[in-house]
Order: sequence, then structure tokens, then C-alpha cells
Amino acid sequence: MPDSKEPQPPRNWPQNHPSGLDDVSRRYRREGDKAADFVVTENFEQFNQIDDVFRRSQWDDSIRTENSEQFYRSHVLPKPRKGDGFTQRDFAFRNASWTLANIFSDRGEEEGRREGFLDPLDPYFPKAEQKIEVEDPTRIAREIKNICKFFGAHIVGITNIDKRWHYQNRYDLKNQGDRPNDLPDGLTNVIVIGHAMDYDLVQTYPSALAGASCGSGYSHEAASVVQISQYIRNLGYEAVSSMNDTALAVPYAIKAGLGEYGRNQLVITPEFGPRVRFSKIFTDLPMALDQPKKFGITEFCNICERCADACPPKAIPRGQPTEFGPNKSSIRGVVKWTADCEKCFGYWARMGSDCAICMRVCPFNKDFSKWYYRLARNLAGTRLRKLILVLDSRLKLNKRVKPSGWWGKQGD
Ligand code: SF4
Ligand code: SF4
Repeated sequence: MPDSKEPQPPRNWPQNHPSGLDDVSRRYRREGDKAADFVVTENFEQFNQIDDVFRRSQWDDSIRTENSEQFYRSHVLPKPRKGDGFTQRDFAFRNASWTLANIFSDRGEEEGRREGFLDPLDPYFPKAEQKIEVEDPTRIAREIKNICKFFGAHIVGITNIDKRWHYQNRYDLKNQGDRPNDLPDGLTNVIVIGHAMDYDLVQTYPSALAGASCGSGYSHEAASVVQISQYIRNLGYEAVSSMNDTALAVPYAIKAGLGEYGRNQLVITPEFGPRVRFSKIFTDLPMALDQPKKFGITEFCNICERCADACPPKAIPRGQPTEFGPNKSSIRGVVKWTADCEKCFGYWARMGSDCAICMRVCPFNKDFSKWYYRLARNLAGTRLRKLILVLDSRLKLNKRVKPSGWWGKQGD
């Protein structure tokens, strides 16, 4: 549980919507902020990283499979097999996309660390001794967002630290147990940055080829966060570069106003739909904070179950959000849609690559540089949402593209 001496944030998570809630969330809504609907209950427990399904695949025999290892070892090329999207060329491309993320994550492995996954990325240069004066937090927030975009982020939001979303403990790879999830003292804010995944590659999920959109996301994130953090340290402030380590990215992305939570457990953003990877920089640099934004995703998910229909192992829930997930790999005491991570990971392991079918089929997975998709997105946030869903389904806009078709285009 969070340290009681620390200032505690309001109980409700600033997200979700009154419609489509079960009894638990209605009760908590009455007691709390009327604008909130992603509700934290009295049964809330901070999530422990050791229970993350990827970590469990390293210590829990009920999850571990022959293929589990490859999710941590993209240095070794899996055996190609028959089937479009799983040739040597597909695996070669996917594994190459992870290279930069692997260079960072390998650095501390002998001590049981994995930077970017279990532990923050180590700073390369120290903090400057002299500190700049921040007179205008709004101006510095604007500057930092521009710097983040220069270093490769597609979207950026800023929020305050909320320890509820930090792991109780870190996972130690060497002793396969807990380690303290320490951060430097005095950090106050989190810069959340999003990298969009490549639209054309995502359209080929499930395939090893599509995994390159995920791997390149991680590699770009690693490069971005270390440069942004170094810039902040050069201003004389503390900055900790974080990817999947230290804290849950989803609540922070929502708190920082970057998107809304979807049934598929992804943050759906106005700019790129669900096709975004998030990372974080914890800092004591004073900055103006962003607020959560809503554009109708909860209401849309209430009438759409396309991700649940399309998920091969049926890991995505139908119906209303619930307070608890199906097993220990879900956070407890937060009313939300929660997928069955054991089923999801089992499918990944059987396929031998990552899956994001639930991302590809989502009606919000569109190329919003096109005006007609922006119009449809805006209408999806109104009472016309049902019409948009029907049209989207009839036009089969999220059909899988054959991986060989993607390769065909590269030679044009
Ligand atoms: S990633 Fe694939 S298996 Fe996992 S929830 Fe999404 S569709 Fe289902
Ligand atoms: S597919 Fe439909 S239900 Fe699933 S996240 Fe997207 S909009 Fe929501």
C-alpha cells in the first residue's frame, strides 16, 4: 500500500464513465468525484511486478513454456516455419527491431537487472551542479514537450506522481524474487511519452513481421527517454528514464491526458487510436500538469465487443467492467475491463511471437491523417457511435493484411 505519510491523491482514478458500470463502481461513484469512473475500491492493492505474466513465465511453472524464453532473447533467431509472416525474413526483421532496447536491457543482467523492463535505464552522465530557475511552469512544460518531440516522442503529457501505480517491488531476475522499487527522493512529476506503432505493420498482426512494430517502438522509446532525461539532468534536476519498469504506464498515460482506457486494455488516443507504446520520465522539474481527457471511448466500448470477439484465446472480457481480474496477473481493487493475461500469454507462446489482434481490429485503429477517419472518430464520440460501428464493420476496415503483401510493397 502507498506510504501513509505521503500526500494521497483523490481515491477515484480520473477516467471512465457513469454508463455501463456495475454495482461496485456505481457505489463508489456516488461516494466520489462525479467526473470519475475508473474506480479504485477499498480492496485496492498495489501490483507486484513478480506477478506480471511475463515475469511469471520465468518463475511460475504453470505459465512457463518452451517458447517463453524467446520473449526475452531476441538475440537468437527462432526457427522459421511455414506460414505467411513467419519466414526467416519476418523473424530477422522483428528481432533486428529490438536491438537498441536489448543493448540497454542487457547492461545489468548479471546483477539480476533488466533496464527498461525491470529497472529504470541508468543515467550515462550525472546531473549538472547548477540548476536553472523555473519561473513559469507552463512555459517549461511547453518547452519540455517540444524537446520530447524532437527526441522522437509522438505525443507527450505531464502529470504528478501517484504511487498507487508503482510496483510494490521490482522483480529480480537473478534470485527470481522481490527487490525494492526505489526511486530518488523528492520526485514529483511524470512526463509520459507515446510512440506510435507503424500502421501498416500493425495491419499484419498476427505475424512475426508485425512484431517489428512493437520492437521498434521499444527501441525508439529507449533512445528517447535517455536523451530527454539527460536534458533535464543538464538543467540541474533529477530525471529517471523508465519504460515498462517501476510503474504501470496505462494509468499514467490516462492521468496525463493522452487517451482513454479501452476494453482491449489499451490506452486509446485521439491521434493514433490504440497503436501507441508509452514510457515515462520521473522528475522533480516543476511543470504545469495536464488533465485527463475524454472523447467517448468508454461509451463506444460499451456498445462494441469487437476485440473480445477477435481474441483467439478469448482473453478479453465482455460486458461491464469489474473490480477483480481472473488471476494474480491483474491489479486488484480497480473497476475496469481486465483481460485474462494467462490466456493471452499462452497464445503468444504457442504462436512464437507477440499478438495485437485486439489492437488491429479496434475501430479506432485508423490512419487519422485522413480527414474522413478524423470525421468518423469525432462522430464515434457522439450519439452516432452505433452508426459508425456498423459502417466500420460493414466496410471491413480492419481486415488483416497479408504479411507477404507488406513485403511486396517494399520492393515497389
Ligand atoms: S494480444 Fe491477442 S491474445 Fe492477447 S488479448 Fe489481445 S487479441 Fe487476445
Ligand atoms: S475493439 Fe471496440 S470494445 Fe474493443 S477497445 Fe476497440 S472500441 Fe473498445
